[in-house]
Amino acid sequence: MTMQQLLWQGVQELNKARVPDPELDARYLLLEVFHLNLASFLALKARGLGEDEETEGKCREFMRLIEARAGRTPLQHLTGTQEFMGFEFLVNEHVLIPRQDTETLVELVLEEQKDREKRVLDMCTGSGCIAISLALMGRYRHVAALDVSAEALKVAAGNRDRLLGGYDGGFELFESNMFSALGTDRTFDVIVSNPPYIPSRVIEGLAPEVRDHEPRIALDGSEDGLTFYRILAQEARNHLAEGGSIYMEIGYDQSEAVEGLFRTGGYRDVRTFQDLAGQDRVVRARR
Ligand code: GLN
Repeated sequence: MTMQQLLWQGVQELNKARVPDPELDARYLLLEVFHLNLASFLALKARGLGEDEETEGKCREFMRLIEARAGRTPLQHLTGTQEFMGFEFLVNEHVLIPRQDTETLVELVLEEQKDREKRVLDMCTGSGCIAISLALMGRYRHVAALDVSAEALKVAAGNRDRLLGGYDGGFELFESNMFSALGTDRTFDVIVSNPPYIPSRVIEGLAPEVRDHEPRIALDGSEDGLTFYRILAQEARNHLAEGGSIYMEIGYDQSEAVEGLFRTGGYRDVRTFQDLAGQDRVVRARR
């Protein structure tokens, strides 16, 4: 059997299970198992696979991963990684898999906050992808990243260790239910957050990869999806320096509601920004 034929078996299994993008996912898993990049795969794919013990083990491992993917385990839980802002982040079932949509938030902050002396807080950091990308690309003086989940913080710490080696600013990671563990006198120039914002009843209708495998605690924004924006609107101002800004990811239909919470809360310059698909994606407000 050739590698191409093995790949094809995988594609067919994924097709049967109606996995979106079966060719792409099967190829990722094949490259992962055989430790190949795309170029070496293309060069080797038509050659016969060896019949040695090691190769047969890899074939079995590939088909095991294919079965898991057919059962709708997210690809990223099988490879253990997801790229975000050009960096490779470790992920597992305890953190939301970084989404490309969220790059809109990071890019907006980098665009508007060019001063490296800024102190940044990332609330609900999960894998740490926002905080670490901002530290690496904005080179800010200090970045603090908080999460309520100790398991998520382990993932974020792994990503810090892996990616932040050359960063010369301060980087803090700690457990906190929203602002609760943060000293009342601690202020930041920039607060960013991608909080859970999916209304509870909507979660049942999401793709099985998200619904059954990603942490509900990272998705569920309660009945109306807005619980964490209410807390942010109420408490962020106590932790923002005068003139400081908060940037939040929002659901495509939450702009009006979230802008309203921040206007009522006395914030200035409240504005919504769109992602690459043209959907409302980020709300920014200033103290
Ligand atoms: N954008 C994510 C999704 O659609 C949700 C992210 C969140 O709740 N913060 O699955």
